[in-house]
Amino acid sequence: CGIIGCIGRGGETLDTLVHGLENLEYRGYDSAGVAVGGDDLGVRKTSGKIEQLREMLDSDPVSGTVGIGHTRWSTHGPPTDENAHPHQDCTGGVAVVHNGIIENYQSLRDDLTAAGHTFTSDTDTEVVPHLIEEELDRGATPEEAFRTAVGQLEGSYAIAAIIDGTDALFAARNDSPLVIGVGLDAEGTGTIDVTEGPYFIASDVPAFREFTARVIYLEDGEFARFDDGITVTDAEGTQVEKAVETIEWDA
Ligand code: GLU
Repeated sequence: CGIIGCIGRGGETLDTLVHGLENLEYRGYDSAGVAVGGDDLGVRKTSGKIEQLREMLDSDPVSGTVGIGHTRWSTHGPPTDENAHPHQDCTGGVAVVHNGIIENYQSLRDDLTAAGHTFTSDTDTEVVPHLIEEELDRGATPEEAFRTAVGQLEGSYAIAAIIDGTDALFAARNDSPLVIGVGLDAEGTGTIDVTEGPYFIASDVPAFREFTARVIYLEDGEFARFDDGITVTDAEGTQVEKAVETIEWDA
């Protein structure tokens, strides 16, 4: 199972996502999917192999500058098309991928259902886009909505999300691996102010190894926002200074 996210400036995002998923195949999976946004959010997902996802994308393409991809190893719900990630909210404007297990999903789902949300999968993950939707409805910014939603989760998670109306990407982790890949022109620490890209988020560095060797390791409880640069914060939204490390690949 694995997560890949990419924010780029051209048409390379979708290719990078699918390629990244193939790089993560060694982790095992039963379903695969992508969501791409920026202008119009589009989701394609299927049970089965990445090859099937590729065929789906060939016949029914999506495009955009920002995107997330997922290979699923089912824990909650069988490996069906509906249970494949990304998962969306009621409006279709929020897309989320998740690795791990959300222990308190049932009570969150009950509350969201009582508040009028409709669920289309058996997964623990699907509560996340609906929690984000709730916060957006209350007037939160996308970043606040993501942080508040993730703050309600108990369990293990690596999560990445994109939200319609912003070309940003949001990510967070707790007890599940997640690492940031920094585009070659990026400099410095903290808010990495760069106009080049692309930037990546992934479960493991092999996902983006053809694209960059510069990484930032996200710690448990940290949040990352990717837009014109990369900003890492703690759970309260306070910025955290992060070092960019360079990986020495074995030949
Ligand atoms: N618990 C989630 C699910 O069953 C994510 C599984 C995974 O880590 O791939 O859909």
